[in-house]
Amino acid sequence: MKITVLTLFPERMETLLEFSVIKKALEKGLLNINYVNIRDFSTNKHKKVDDYPYSGGPGMLLKPDPLSEALDEVSQKDSKIFYMSPKGTVLNQEKVKKISQEKNIVIIAGHYEGIDQRIIDTYVDEEISIGDYVLTGGELPALVLIDSVARLIPGVLGNEDSHQDESFENNLLEHPQYTRPYEYKGSKVPDILLSGDHEKIKRWKRYKSIELTLKHRPDLIKDIETIKKEYNKLKEEFK
Ligand code: SAM
Repeated sequence: MKITVLTLFPERMETLLEFSVIKKALEKGLLNINYVNIRDFSTNKHKKVDDYPYSGGPGMLLKPDPLSEALDEVSQKDSKIFYMSPKGTVLNQEKVKKISQEKNIVIIAGHYEGIDQRIIDTYVDEEISIGDYVLTGGELPALVLIDSVARLIPGVLGNEDSHQDESFENNLLEHPQYTRPYEYKGSKVPDILLSGDHEKIKRWKRYKSIELTLKHRPDLIKDIETIKKEYNKLKEEFK
């Protein structure tokens, strides 16, 4: 997958990716990331890229011309263009999966109070938010998108099955996990996990997944009545 990020801070983004699974993906050639400085496309002699919003209001906006110049240069026929924005639809694992199938994506990281609406209307395929809060710039949101998408690219995680059981698969959160030692500060690993009964372990994991999802994220569950029935049955089995 080829990713191009339009940002005012390419060097900051590069260093942040040094510590993640992305680095491996880059080294393996599974991913290619190109950081493009929006400022390089300013025709202003001071390389100015922002201006006051029409009708007033606080802060500045990224001007349309450097952005459109940059987009014209970097985007190709098959590029999907995303603008990271709190006004976009909120990113979730379903969207991440869909984006991970793209061959070529361009991500605009905004700054100041955002970007001129005409860029969104003319170029952007989708505005993506990473949550209901406002950050100072689109660099962290762009990295969130890149990281979440990159780990789904075949070969990046090494083990293709490693995300099959993860949170949000089947609209549930992942079950609790334990490692050695068996006893830690008086608390023992649930015996079922040492039983060797794989079918029963599978049911226990599902029971705990449902329990956690009902507690933390009932909004993820599509048919809550059916899931509650299943939960009560499993609860009876594991009491
Ligand atoms: N004035 C904008 C608003 O009220 O919606 C907020 C602009 S924010 C200060 C500056 C930039 O940070 C945005 O252009 C966007 O790229 C990025 N940003 C901030 N919060 C974000 C979020 N929750 N998701 C995605 N991008 C975000």
